[in-house]
Amino acid sequence: MRKPIIFNIQKFSTHDGPGIRTTIFFKGCPIQCQWCHNPESQSFKPEPMLNKDGQAELLGKTYEIDELVEIATKDELFYDQSGGGVTLSGGEVMAQPIEFIEELTRRLAMRGISVAIDTCGVVSQRNLERVLPYADLYLYDLKFIDSQQHKKYTGATNEKVLNNLKFLSDHQARIILRLILLKDLNDTDDILKRTLAWIKANHIHVEEVSLLPYHDFGRDKYRKLNRECTQNFKVPTDDRLAVIKQAWEDYGVPVKIGG
Ligand code: SF4
Repeated sequence: MRKPIIFNIQKFSTHDGPGIRTTIFFKGCPIQCQWCHNPESQSFKPEPMLNKDGQAELLGKTYEIDELVEIATKDELFYDQSGGGVTLSGGEVMAQPIEFIEELTRRLAMRGISVAIDTCGVVSQRNLERVLPYADLYLYDLKFIDSQQHKKYTGATNEKVLNNLKFLSDHQARIILRLILLKDLNDTDDILKRTLAWIKANHIHVEEVSLLPYHDFGRDKYRKLNRECTQNFKVPTDDRLAVIKQAWEDYGVPVKIGG
């Protein structure tokens, strides 16, 4: 079985879904968001990155499924007490060798561990079908309702994102919709209206919406990867966030600001 490359395993994470979680970060992403704060997750290959001592270290390695299950099950008690579990993130987990991801998800689910899939949606529907019987929750990014904007800022149009979101919703998957917000680009009234209209017209059921205002905390990582950081986005104002939050709540969906 082909093994994916993993670049980080974060224990006691509280930002990647409900409760206390272990988050496994898979290396490799099919798109390139211009605001990406995990640039080390974009390439599918191990790559050198400066560590805290300023030394170049090869980032990314493979694990056996048994090893990952063993690491994840160590914190089972915390998951049970907090309503947490394991999050498979990235990069893009659904763009990894799917036999491996399906089996990992299945093994964790069989242990009674809730597995969340964190996805950008630009993935094959076939891959989503493979994890559907075992995954408990999807952290689903909707970056731009406008396909041309999606293409401009991520490199890919949004047809797959919308189709896959509908597919998951039609299959009664539990979905937390994650909206990354960039000032004047996708936090406007027009985009808000278009997004809600699409959600309504397509009968999309989401359990919660997370509003994720843009930040540039990942800037230093570009330097450590010897890459240029050209990000020049602006942070939405608190007033805009309040308006967006209210609009979703009026639509009947609980909203959280932050991950
Ligand atoms: S989907 Fe996530 S990991 Fe991939 S480029 Fe965008 S922000 Fe980075």
